[in-house]
Amino acid sequence: MAKYSICVLPGDGIGPEVVGCARGVLDAVSAAGGPQFAYDEQSAGHGTFLEQGHAMPDASMAAAKAADAVFLGAMDVAQIPPGGGDPLGDMRIELEVAASVRPSRTIPGIPSPADDIDCVVVREVTEGLYSRDEYQPDDDTAYAIRVVTREASRRTARMAFEQATARRRARGARSDKSARVTAVHKVGVLKLTDGLFLETCAEIAKEYPDIIYETRNIDACAMEMVREPGHFDVILATNAFGDILSDIAAGLAAGLGLAASACIGDRWAYFEPVHGTAPDIAGKGIANPCATILSAAMMLRYLGEDAGAAAVEAAVLEVLADGQIRTGDLGGTAGSAKMTEAIVGALNL
Ligand code: ATP
Repeated sequence: MAKYSICVLPGDGIGPEVVGCARGVLDAVSAAGGPQFAYDEQSAGHGTFLEQGHAMPDASMAAAKAADAVFLGAMDVAQIPPGGGDPLGDMRIELEVAASVRPSRTIPGIPSPADDIDCVVVREVTEGLYSRDEYQPDDDTAYAIRVVTREASRRTARMAFEQATARRRARGARSDKSARVTAVHKVGVLKLTDGLFLETCAEIAKEYPDIIYETRNIDACAMEMVREPGHFDVILATNAFGDILSDIAAGLAAGLGLAASACIGDRWAYFEPVHGTAPDIAGKGIANPCATILSAAMMLRYLGEDAGAAAVEAAVLEVLADGQIRTGDLGGTAGSAKMTEAIVGALNL
């Protein structure tokens, strides 16, 4: 029986609640004969900063590096003052994350603005406009440095093409959706940075001749995502553009309560829901646990546990489609525990 070590960082707000729900589902997968998990729960986030003076203590980072995968709740990073630590930013660097992967799709039974979106945004997460390299030479002027390197672009592009390959395999031969990677840019303005990004993406594309490769200006891409969401399969983007497009995709699909994500590198990876700490509902036991449970399914797939991942995803979809048990954000009255119980009940392993 496979056994994996999982470093768990519950974080702030609803983080610990939704992580607890996802662990309940993973435990049910184990109990049904699936893989076993050894959890190492560690502290990180704003609460950790208040208690320990740093939001990502060395012990937590060491535990993250020692584990087979890292599983996060949510962290109130906006509240952490400069110098207090940046758990997500630090992990992206220390865990050598190649890209963030955020799938969005229409879910049967859940009303959404788009009825045929099924895409994944693969986004570079260590540089670009979020390089954190800013300066202000005087009171009236401030600069942010947009950094694009060939190495990070190459890693992100490869992740995009690998996602397109895996998605096509998962869809099967009967699907009429094309395997496609759309690289997003504004090269007419950002001639050097996006020039380098596109040049690198085109090089990687040559290694995947059976996947359609195309490019779009960021503005045109945003509009086309709204008008013709079904066109997109894998969207490949630099940091800030990808950040915005992945929220458009989540909004067009089933919304934040169902949006899962992963940050994956060659040696390490961490998994987390897209939503934040939701302080307005924290501690009430009413948070929608599905985004975190779907993030756990992404973690299972990363660990090579495809059957477990598919079973968890199917259970979530079944409960959502059935519609009787739903949290408040989806128009229901169930709490997090009841929704989790229903998902565990629907697991078929
Ligand atoms: P943060 O500063 O940590 O990003 P936020 O409240 O600004 O927190 P989110 O946490 O993403 O941003 O929440 C945005 C809105 O969506 C809030 O009203 C929140 O209650 C709701 N929300 C987010 N996640 C969930 C969830 N899992 N279940 C139900 N509602 C949620």
